[in-house]
Amino acid sequence: MGLLEGKVALITGATRGIGRAIAVKYASEGADIAFTYLSSAAAANELVAELESLGVRAVGYRSDAASYEEAHTLATEVNKTFGHIDILVHNAGITRDTLLMRMSQEMWDSVIDTNLKSAFNITHAVAPIMARQRSGSIVYMSSVVGIGGNAGQANYAASKAGLIAFAKSVAKEFGARGVRANCIAPGFIQTDMTSVLSEDIRASFVENISLRRAGTPEDVAGVALFLGSSLSAYVTGQTIPCCGGMRG
Ligand code: NAP
Repeated sequence: MGLLEGKVALITGATRGIGRAIAVKYASEGADIAFTYLSSAAAANELVAELESLGVRAVGYRSDAASYEEAHTLATEVNKTFGHIDILVHNAGITRDTLLMRMSQEMWDSVIDTNLKSAFNITHAVAPIMARQRSGSIVYMSSVVGIGGNAGQANYAASKAGLIAFAKSVAKEFGARGVRANCIAPGFIQTDMTSVLSEDIRASFVENISLRRAGTPEDVAGVALFLGSSLSAYVTGQTIPCCGGMRG
């Protein structure tokens, strides 16, 4: 029997990278999967087929994480279709990197809206459902740069730091109703998001990682499985780095 048998997981931004690996890991442990994407409809259809081949129900929803209205419509739809929502993984995120003095207002706003306001949107929509169920696990995808900051990523680092304090607050507000909230802080993970970095920058990252390799989406999915499952039943308000021992 899988660790997530009988559970329904809603994962934002699951067509690629880390979100996709979490969807596949959760499905392989028996969870039915609702997931979102923004632009990649073909990838969403492929993912549904892959998840169904693992013997679970899977539905992809086009839903912009930055939209309050779309998040609420999504939560209602998922709850109606699947009957309950046991795990929420808020993974959708973007980067718009540049040094602060070159950063436009649009670069700041789009990252804060997609990465942080989105957490408010989806939690505001899903947490009441979980509170009524008297159980639920929420996982936010933060980042090591949300802990240590990073030159050229002031917008992104601020959004990811915000998620850490947000998760702690949700944990305190909803703990009495059996709802847990935690963050994962990945380090340097090989996905589309990091494929734009130059070889030099990638090599300098790896130099600073104790395990001397970039992480894989599957590495992060393992931590997400822990936080989504009852293995972490007494863990809430925490941030777990998944960074191969990256030095700050
Ligand atoms: P990725 O490969 O760029 O994938 C991002 C996913 O988010 C895609 O499925 C994308 O959907 C979705 N998405 C983007 N904007 C969205 C929106 N407004 N509404 C709904 N979905 C949206 O990213 P990744 O590297 O897997 O990163 C996943 C998460 O981990 C992000 O929050 C990121 O900040 C965090 N993280 C990544 C790293 C890393 O090294 N990769 C490190 C630390 C933290 P579409 O394809 O449809 O646009």
